[in-house]
Amino acid sequence: MKMNSTIKVGILGFGGLGQAAARILNPKQEMTWVATADLKGYAYCETGLDPDQAIAAYYDQGSIGYCDPYGALSNNSIQDLLETKAVDGYFLALPNLPNTFMADVAKQFIGSGWRGVLVDALKRTSAVEQLLQIKDELAQAGITYLTGCGATPGLLTAAATIAAQSYAEIHSVKITFGVGIANWEAYRATIREDIAHLPGFDVETARGMSDAEVEAFLDKTNGILTLENMEHADDIMLELAGICDRDRVTVGGVVDTRNPKKPLSTNVKVTGRTFEGKISTHTFTLGDETSMAANVCGPAFGYLKAGMALHRRGIYGLFTAADMMPKFVK
Ligand code: NAD
Repeated sequence: MKMNSTIKVGILGFGGLGQAAARILNPKQEMTWVATADLKGYAYCETGLDPDQAIAAYYDQGSIGYCDPYGALSNNSIQDLLETKAVDGYFLALPNLPNTFMADVAKQFIGSGWRGVLVDALKRTSAVEQLLQIKDELAQAGITYLTGCGATPGLLTAAATIAAQSYAEIHSVKITFGVGIANWEAYRATIREDIAHLPGFDVETARGMSDAEVEAFLDKTNGILTLENMEHADDIMLELAGICDRDRVTVGGVVDTRNPKKPLSTNVKVTGRTFEGKISTHTFTLGDETSMAANVCGPAFGYLKAGMALHRRGIYGLFTAADMMPKFVK
């Protein structure tokens, strides 16, 4: 039995991250997964959806809308869900394709009159900039929106914010991630968005690639994507939090789309000068056994809980993972 005060959580997008998010919430007392929308439908159950049943409907029939008796098919699934169902907060596990998609979804929430907490795991700096442009509208609508709350940006950006406290001046923040997934199809949007960072690609070309084209491309690279100097919102988040200028932040990594073992250990290195004049580097390294899904969805719900506490105190608007401490969800 969940607690009476349990937070009713919706997950928008039911791909790799959305499904992992549902599994993470299942044993939690303080949160109940009540709603999800995918491209073709949505499902809602006030007392909690069953991840196994929902995932089976998604794979066997192509949409969570087939999750009987809680599902409905819709070409306007997000709008239908948010206008008709009671949900306290949403994790937006949606692809940001095109690069304006998440900001458009946020505007949909503002326009609907819904009030509550939104959390995303957005990656691009330019996508966070679009949200900054609507921060006053979010605040006026009674929405507490926490952006960049995945792994990077997210967990590692927050760790960099804490590490920075030892220094009088921050010289560099260097994030290097290693991701291993057994097959790219479990995380189509993540892989397309990563391809968009490679030389010769952009968001639109990656978005336009068919699954067969993505596969053919991955065949050429042996399933490995090596990413350097990515446009990653860790930079703007650390700048907004007053840690350092965005040009001191670099993000890169290696993604293996054919092996769940990480090709390298994900870490953030924060280099600075102490008040005594010493130059030093703090390194925060994630355990190799932790998956991308664990390191994205765990923090996202920690920030959702923090967002709920703000919302209850009447604090609305836009915040980033570098502005807040996540709270641990029991
Ligand atoms: P995915 O491709 O596996 O799944 C996407 C889901 O969204 C699908 O269920 C699809 O049906 C649904 N969807 C698409 N368009 C929709 C619409 N218009 N309305 C409703 N539902 C819609 O995606 P994924 O690989 O799980 O990635 C999700 C996002 O998470 C990506 O944007 C990715 O970049 C981001 N991500 C962030 C981090 C981080 O550390 N910050 C890490 C990994 C992934």
